[in-house]
Amino acid sequence: MKMAKKLIAILLAAALVVVCFAGCSNAKPQEEKKTLVMATNAEFPPYEYFEGDKIVGIDAEVAQAICDKLGYDLKIEHIEFDSIIPGIKGGKFDFGAAGMTVTPEREKEVSFTDSYATGIQSIIVKEGSDIKTADDLSKGGVKIGVQKGTTGDLYCTWDIEDKNLGTVERFAKGADAVMALTSGKVDAVVIDNEPAKVFVKNNEGLQILETSYAVEDYAIAVSKENTELLNEINGALKELIADGTIKNIIEKYIPAE
Ligand code: GLN
Repeated sequence: MKMAKKLIAILLAAALVVVCFAGCSNAKPQEEKKTLVMATNAEFPPYEYFEGDKIVGIDAEVAQAICDKLGYDLKIEHIEFDSIIPGIKGGKFDFGAAGMTVTPEREKEVSFTDSYATGIQSIIVKEGSDIKTADDLSKGGVKIGVQKGTTGDLYCTWDIEDKNLGTVERFAKGADAVMALTSGKVDAVVIDNEPAKVFVKNNEGLQILETSYAVEDYAIAVSKENTELLNEINGALKELIADGTIKNIIEKYIPAE
């Protein structure tokens, strides 16, 4: 019968579709890309900050360029700055890129790649402040705001607070330290120069002192156990520095003055 033939044809076609779907969904992609998880603290413009719910900035783009070169997918996670190194040590993250300064203390905890940028610890004060140089920070009784766990925090703690020459107030974000300066809760903020410029631009009545606190190197942090990834990233960085990619990324966010 015609109807029966048609029905069989339809059923056969349907069966074929089912088989194909089952087959297709079981098929594995030829090459599965490995994902590298990067830890950062996206409160540090222009190195890392939120644009909507996306983390953008110099470090996000440098990391993407490295991952593209090495054939990895990249996932960026936003956490507190002083949780980045413990997270790398504990294996939660593959690397940290957070405008992170290379220091001898941190080098005991993690491995650092070659440096890809320079940072300066700047001092922000209110316009007309009687704090005019870095030395004025330790003249006695000055309250200094910093972002917790940063080199600004470490230097001011060692040089000033531990010697009873002043006090250090620690904030989760640099922007909070700057807000405390605007409202008069602290007298100065010690923070990296590029975020300092952004914060001073966004808040009236503040200025960055001509004298800075320290000049430093930024690098990517990797677990001491993962020398393979350290070498891979260094290899990619070398090429990206040589072909001008890193310079272009930095200049996109920090136009030459
Ligand atoms: N460069 C500073 C440090 O490494 C601050 C980095 C940051 O706040 N993201 O401590």
